[in-house]
Amino acid sequence: MDHMNCVEITARLHLYLDRELGQDEVEVVQQHFGACPSCEHRFHFDLSLKRLIHEKCTIEHAPAHLREAVMRIARTPLGEPIDIDPELAQEIKADLNG
Ligand SMILES: [Zn+2]
Repeated sequence: MDHMNCVEITARLHLYLDRELGQDEVEVVQQHFGACPSCEHRFHFDLSLKRLIHEKCTIEHAPAHLREAVMRIARTPLGEPIDIDPELAQEIKADLNG
């Protein structure tokens, strides 16, 4: 599984949780969950956390620069090149494993 794809999926998790994604994107996210246990795990983690603390999304607790980068990725159509600082991409990937 392409790791950048995981970053794109993670950026959309909170939109997915809030049912703000279009049908095409919902299908892409769900297909990714089927192929990628780590993102599916992340989804269930975010979902249970959301239920626990009644917050919109864990990303709201991320540092501002990270949150901004994730929102930028979330607004980039799936499959399009993402204009992102490689160091920020590393931080997001690290957050994936945290
Ligand atoms: Zn993934």
